[in-house]
Amino acid sequence: MTGDLAAGVDPERLWERHQHLARHGATEGGGVNRQALSAAEVGAWREVIGWAKDSGLAPFTDPAGNLFLRLGGVDDEGAPVLTGSHLDSQPSGGRFDGVFGVLAGLEAAHAIRSAGLELARPLEIVAWMNEEGSRFVPGMMGSAAFTGAAPLESFLQVSDADGVTVRDGLAALHAAFSELPLRPLGRPVAAYIEAHIEQGPILEREGCTIGVVTGIQGKRTFRVTVRGEEAHAGTSNPSERKDALLTAARMIGALDAGIQAGDDSIKFTVGRLDITPNAPSVVAGTAVFSIDLRHVDSDVLAALGDRIPAICAAHSGRCSVDVVELTNSRSLAFPETMTRLVRGYAGALGIPAMDILSSAGHDARFLHAVCPTGMIFIPCKDGISHNPRESVKKEDLAAGARVLVEVLAALATR
Ligand SMILES: [Zn+2]
Repeated sequence: MTGDLAAGVDPERLWERHQHLARHGATEGGGVNRQALSAAEVGAWREVIGWAKDSGLAPFTDPAGNLFLRLGGVDDEGAPVLTGSHLDSQPSGGRFDGVFGVLAGLEAAHAIRSAGLELARPLEIVAWMNEEGSRFVPGMMGSAAFTGAAPLESFLQVSDADGVTVRDGLAALHAAFSELPLRPLGRPVAAYIEAHIEQGPILEREGCTIGVVTGIQGKRTFRVTVRGEEAHAGTSNPSERKDALLTAARMIGALDAGIQAGDDSIKFTVGRLDITPNAPSVVAGTAVFSIDLRHVDSDVLAALGDRIPAICAAHSGRCSVDVVELTNSRSLAFPETMTRLVRGYAGALGIPAMDILSSAGHDARFLHAVCPTGMIFIPCKDGISHNPRESVKKEDLAAGARVLVEVLAALATR
């Protein structure tokens, strides 16, 4: 009967595990800095693997550094139902982003096992490698490699700010967990469902505990390199300078005016600017900045993004400019079969729910290409995320896990 499994979710345990995990990479402000493939993430893995074993799950990994925790099914060779999210964070991250998806999955598996429910096919909880793309760019490397959206080889040479490559990081991770079986990438998946905090203000504002995620907003990212010439701040004539920083600043202003243009549906962000040589008395020789552009309508996103190179060129002045597109993802819609399950079980459990589009990207984007995929959102306070102040109510964590366990059981007993 609907609700029996959900009753097995322990709100206290789920809450305590979130607090406990936050010690790995804890920052002064009560937040988390847990970079992909770091010692802090290794610590978080150990913790999670311990809890998984206590619940009778079998841990294993893969060449891309994804962690899997498996509960067997009657057809143990059958494609698994997959759920999870990520354990890495932004440098000033919170305690719930990503972690909730993994811990809710663990709680669900525990409830299924405690209820003695026999699954037709295996259930696996996953923690994807480098979702955030903070230490290594781009993000969502683990799910991209797993689903074949990009070959793992294409990421191995990517290095962090200290010159440590993904290849090095993966070697360290696999050495730290040499006892774990290694399974291949690209295994078939029966279905994927990811629980996550909303990272926006809508559910809280509408008084809804469950967001039935209907899809993910599209996104294009660019890297703009402005090349000028280094010069002495005291002796060079401003009229003759090729000032890369000043040029980049004008470009960013022009892009904001021309692309974002005061329309809140257009999310235009320059979040990173790297200057060389970055010295107070030297005219900047190069300036490299990022562009993150998002819109729910793929056609609008395409048209806006296509204007970026021309705007940059028009404001390059005495410098040269080079615009490289890094990612281009259309908006996507999850299948009705998956959204209906989430909506249905939230309703059956008496938990207020509403349809919602994800404005942030998630690993579910790549899984959507290989299997029926859905997501469950829960509210976070004031929509704040990627911030130490990220805050979620204990009862909302539990509500999300309750819907998740019912959906997983439905998918895995078919
Ligand atoms: Zn996340």
